Amino acid sequence: MQSSLLNPVTQSFFISDLHLCPTRPAITGVFFDFLRGPAAQADALYILGDLFEYWAGDDDDTPFNQSIVAALKEYSGRGIPLYLMHGNRDFLIGEQFAAATGAKLLQDPTLLDLYGIPTLLLHGDTLCTDDVKYIAFRTKVRDPAYQQQFLAQPLAARKQIIAGLRAENAGEKQQKSETIMDVVAATVDAVFRRHGYPRMIHGHTHRPALHHHAVDDKSCERWVLADWYDRGSYLLCDAGDCRSIAL
Ligand code: MN
Repeated sequence: MQSSLLNPVTQSFFISDLHLCPTRPAITGVFFDFLRGPAAQADALYILGDLFEYWAGDDDDTPFNQSIVAALKEYSGRGIPLYLMHGNRDFLIGEQFAAATGAKLLQDPTLLDLYGIPTLLLHGDTLCTDDVKYIAFRTKVRDPAYQQQFLAQPLAARKQIIAGLRAENAGEKQQKSETIMDVVAATVDAVFRRHGYPRMIHGHTHRPALHHHAVDDKSCERWVLADWYDRGSYLLCDAGDCRSIAL
């Protein structure tokens, strides 16, 4: 037991798709407990997108949003590196939020040397290439010029536009097949190939699993993070392996 006291903890935590919003206070509580509890043991915490159900801009300082900012600031204030990647719902999170929370914004994708294993971090939406309509939408809204124009509108107007999009989306989602909303195998292979294998961690699809892929005779693994709709969970990776832990 003594060695565990002498050796620094070396483990990284990954979460995504919490979809935090004021209408689901229980899961926000689970998140706060997670930050003060298990996540305090991490070397680094990576939030791989969709922390929030939606994000209208860093100036949207509702009491709810402020409570999340405060919790993240407290967390990063302990000296634990905190990383944040945009999801398809909170891609408008900006530098102001990053500065307020102490989080470092990560590009999607980001290649990480995780205890010696090259590991590609993504939100996961870019793997769902069968959803042609979404990919076109993504290209549009990720354009910096588009975002600048959008963020120049008053907050109330932005929230109204987002509410409209969300309502439209909810209707469309029911019509889209399960397959269209999942990753495309050929895209996964191509991404492994482009970034040099052998491990990928992403969320977005809400289909938590460990998938094994043989790409160009290399054995690769793809970890899909769980959403936090029914309960919280995180992926813990250390020098040995990764494992999913429910809260
Ligand atoms: Mn998503």
